[in-house]
Amino acid sequence: MAKTESETNGPYDSSLFEGPAMRKKRDMPDGLWMRCAGCESMLYRKVVAENLEVCPQCGYHFRAGGRLRVKQLADPDTFEELFADIAPADPLEFRWAGKQYADRLRAEQAKTGDLEACLTGAAYIKGRRVALGVMDGEFLMGSMGSALGEKITLIIEEAGRRSLPLVIVCMSGGARMHEGALSLMQMAKTAAALARFDDAGGLFLSVLSDPTTGGTTASFAMLGDIIIAEPGALIGFAGQRVIANTLKAELPEGFQRAEFLKEKGFVDMIVARNDIARLIDYCKPL
Ligand SMILES: [Zn+2]
Repeated sequence: MAKTESETNGPYDSSLFEGPAMRKKRDMPDGLWMRCAGCESMLYRKVVAENLEVCPQCGYHFRAGGRLRVKQLADPDTFEELFADIAPADPLEFRWAGKQYADRLRAEQAKTGDLEACLTGAAYIKGRRVALGVMDGEFLMGSMGSALGEKITLIIEEAGRRSLPLVIVCMSGGARMHEGALSLMQMAKTAAALARFDDAGGLFLSVLSDPTTGGTTASFAMLGDIIIAEPGALIGFAGQRVIANTLKAELPEGFQRAEFLKEKGFVDMIVARNDIARLIDYCKPL
């Protein structure tokens, strides 16, 4: 029997999401087996991995880190990484929840093996050369600090220079509060770079994965010529509770989900992860 929306809504419960924080991974014990957050099936982890981190039973899209997304999307061994040495700084000497930002950065870098929460470079996707940016939600919630904004800007400019279509896979909790206004400035910087790219005739495909929120949504993520979202992805600016408290209004069910946003015209199409690479195949060279 088909499940009702409220029954299937568990993993996508927007009330679990507030501001830039990302909900905790649930039911994801380390080991051979994992429980699907969508249909509750016990899944063999290897099978899920082979299916691009998508549940083979119900199509639930699990979150995947930046390196894995690149591997899933780019043709094997074609990713030529660029701007990998751009690292975040701690100009405000920010301290939050008893932790120095600089120490937090070092820990995230050690965990992911990357200096920032996005990977940028050139790659082939289904034989077509593209400039590629992939955000890494496993690094400080994919938040947009100065270095991330710089890398995104540089890959936009590189796409223009090499006359390549630009593909950015978004996954972000929003602006990086540890960098204050410097983080917010990245919204203007990336948007301006995209405007120049657009003026020059560039094609930008924005792929929104779960979650794409805050300053990322309010800048480059929603500026794609074509905006593609993965099924069920949370896409929004502020968290549901913040909006409800501000507006003092009841919000429609699932109003920050990809499906609702497509219905309202904010998203062009919803494409399952296994099909995203094929979609890019339709890009014509500049
Ligand atoms: Zn499932």
